[in-house]
Amino acid sequence: MKQALKCGKLFCPQDGKTLKNAVVLVDGSKILALQGEHEAIPDGFSVIDLSDKFVMPGLIDAHVHTSSSGEPSGTARQVTQTLGDVAFTAMRNAQQDLNAGFTTLRDAGCTGFVDVALRNAINRGDVVGPRMVVAGVSMGSTGGHADSHFAPHIQNTLLPDLCINGVESARRAARYNLKYGADFLKFMSTGGVMSLGTTVGAQQLTYDEIAAIIEIAEMYGVHTATHAHGTNGIKAAVRAGVTSVEHGMMLDDEAIDLMLQKGTHLTPTIIAAERIIVNGEAGGIAGWAVQKARQVLENHKAGLQKCLARGVKLNFGSDAGTPYNFHGKQGYEFELMVSFGFTPAQALTAATVTNSQLLRIQDKIGTVEPGKLADIAAFAGDPLDDIKVMQDCRFVMKDGVVVKN
Ligand SMILES: [Zn+2]
Repeated sequence: MKQALKCGKLFCPQDGKTLKNAVVLVDGSKILALQGEHEAIPDGFSVIDLSDKFVMPGLIDAHVHTSSSGEPSGTARQVTQTLGDVAFTAMRNAQQDLNAGFTTLRDAGCTGFVDVALRNAINRGDVVGPRMVVAGVSMGSTGGHADSHFAPHIQNTLLPDLCINGVESARRAARYNLKYGADFLKFMSTGGVMSLGTTVGAQQLTYDEIAAIIEIAEMYGVHTATHAHGTNGIKAAVRAGVTSVEHGMMLDDEAIDLMLQKGTHLTPTIIAAERIIVNGEAGGIAGWAVQKARQVLENHKAGLQKCLARGVKLNFGSDAGTPYNFHGKQGYEFELMVSFGFTPAQALTAATVTNSQLLRIQDKIGTVEPGKLADIAAFAGDPLDDIKVMQDCRFVMKDGVVVKN
């Protein structure tokens, strides 16, 4: 199928420029060419009129959890839902993200490899959904952020094969995730906000355990991501060569120096802490979680402003699925990024080019250029003037197929 998209404005994150009245020619799943408004559209192309829209490459959210839906606590879901329930929830959540303009998701940890099953079903064409790059099940220490902290007489959800206590188990956990279809490896270097009984600033995996996971990832040619709030856990993971630090809310200058030296990406996920604080105990979130969210968000703005000033590679990631952080509503993270000091263009670049580099698929997506996959989103207004526009997606094309218009 041949399609011509008449674009009012077309954002090019590769150089930060916006083209006026460009026409994007799409042939099948790929972008064939870009042409000016005065060039004739070749025969055989059906025209899609986006001349009153702001058009850009399909967005990439580098941190979502499709198996959770923004409920104030995940405990009931963890102990009552079958994996079949989780799978249908994950499919709906991924479709909501797609309808908000996110044509690619990196799932940073799911229940029971449902993310792998969903990715495969989407790739087969069985269900409509975004392109998915998945972690399988997050790995961590006994009692760590990935462990479910149920009473000892209740079966905990972190499978023994994914529980890390020493270098050998770290290698086993990494291989186990890869065996069942993970595209990258996600591990918990520190405590977290929503895990009962963890200290958010405390390191939870040793340097050697982290290095063992990364060694296996490099052997398999996949990238790595670590959940890390506390400063020591961030530094240990960066020193060991992790590809991206997720959250990174308790940075110090040395951590920023290390990230710059190593070329480490950072996914700020401001929205995750902000939603917990705003909705709070009145919204049914546990007091200890609200307290920890306040603790981590306190210095996040200052840390991110240093990262921006010094040129750390910053991703767009929402952590959608965490409390009141609903799938399809993560465009609000753009507004938060701008309130923390990003320019609108920097925020859009994070969600396109920078994230495509993080996912190592920058040759396929991230910009609207000939030869790339036709992943395109359009918005009713100019986000470079008003970033709130990013919360109102009007058109989505993935792989050359219109999924929303
Ligand atoms: Zn997360």
